[in-house]
Amino acid sequence: MAQQRTEIAELGEFGLIDRLHAGIKTTLPDTITGIGDDAAVLDLGEEYGLLTTDLLLENVHFDLAFYPLKHLGYKAVAVNVSDIAAMNGIPRQITVSLGLSNRFSVEAIEELYAGINAACTDFRVDLVGGDTSASRSGLLISVSVFGKVSKEKIAYRHSAKVSDLLCVSGDLGAAYLGLQVLEREKQVYLADPSMQPELDGKEYVIQRQLRPEARMDVVYELDEAGVVPTAMIDVSDGLASDLLHLCRRSEVGAVVFEENLPIDDQTYLVATELNIGPITAAMNGGEDYELLFTIRQADYDKIKNSPNISVIGFITEPANGVVLHTKGGNRHPITAQGWTPLSS
Ligand code: ADP
Ligand code: MG
Repeated sequence: MAQQRTEIAELGEFGLIDRLHAGIKTTLPDTITGIGDDAAVLDLGEEYGLLTTDLLLENVHFDLAFYPLKHLGYKAVAVNVSDIAAMNGIPRQITVSLGLSNRFSVEAIEELYAGINAACTDFRVDLVGGDTSASRSGLLISVSVFGKVSKEKIAYRHSAKVSDLLCVSGDLGAAYLGLQVLEREKQVYLADPSMQPELDGKEYVIQRQLRPEARMDVVYELDEAGVVPTAMIDVSDGLASDLLHLCRRSEVGAVVFEENLPIDDQTYLVATELNIGPITAAMNGGEDYELLFTIRQADYDKIKNSPNISVIGFITEPANGVVLHTKGGNRHPITAQGWTPLSS
């Protein structure tokens, strides 16, 4: 009998993870949650442990033509800490694994570690180990983070409730536009190496791409305000894609108001210059590493004056779907057009 062959692209990244997940059973009593949230949840007795890992590959996730190694080191840690933040947790320890080609000097790797160390300081985590190997296909960085959260404060993806308010931290779409600017300048440079890059007025969007922050400040702010999100996810693949994950896991619908989407002025300007819709960038851009979360309506007063938090909509019955309420008053279903790196 011929062996069946399914192309990975047919399933996509999330379809593949779902299929693998179906064949995995957890058996230990202290494994509270395995695959399916921003981090795994482990019962430590008094509190929960959180465990998450992310992989960054050269020419898939970053292009060393415009990515400074120091920023790359910072980003590798920040994107992992962001997954701990998305559980409403506090990061504690990280491990860092590297695949290195002989193209790199010791000094270059020290640059990378300068960024990793800066992130460890900023996010108050200890680097406690890792692994180092030769690589034949460019630079590879894998970071794992262990974190903690008290049992009554954990925020899963699966626990949003109908009529909860939908909130997002910071602003959206800038990181995607930063990447478009950097890629455009790279093409200009390749065509004529004497050209100086034109980055004036684009500092913010570039910084959002090259040096993303994990929003631990928002985790602390919510805690001080006495708010535990009813559900939370970080926006890594774009608001549309990550909102769909949250709604699917919570078995709810949602409405997002276009006019409430937080978009920085520079994002508008650069989007216009590059002929990209600012709403499209905000909905589908990805790599913002903001927190998307739901709160009870009763908690609204506790967050309404925060400059770091926007209420962008609310949770509905599942039958209403996940929709964008436009400025013109129309409602469109939100679909995920974010990254599907395995299908390209
Ligand atoms: P995030 O964007 O928050 O990092 P992902 O979309 O990468 O999350 O992953 C979704 C879930 O699938 C997570 O629980 C993650 O641990 C799990 N996962 C991803 N890849 C694999 C894999 N190869 N094997 C097992 N679990 C995986
Ligand atoms: Mg995540």
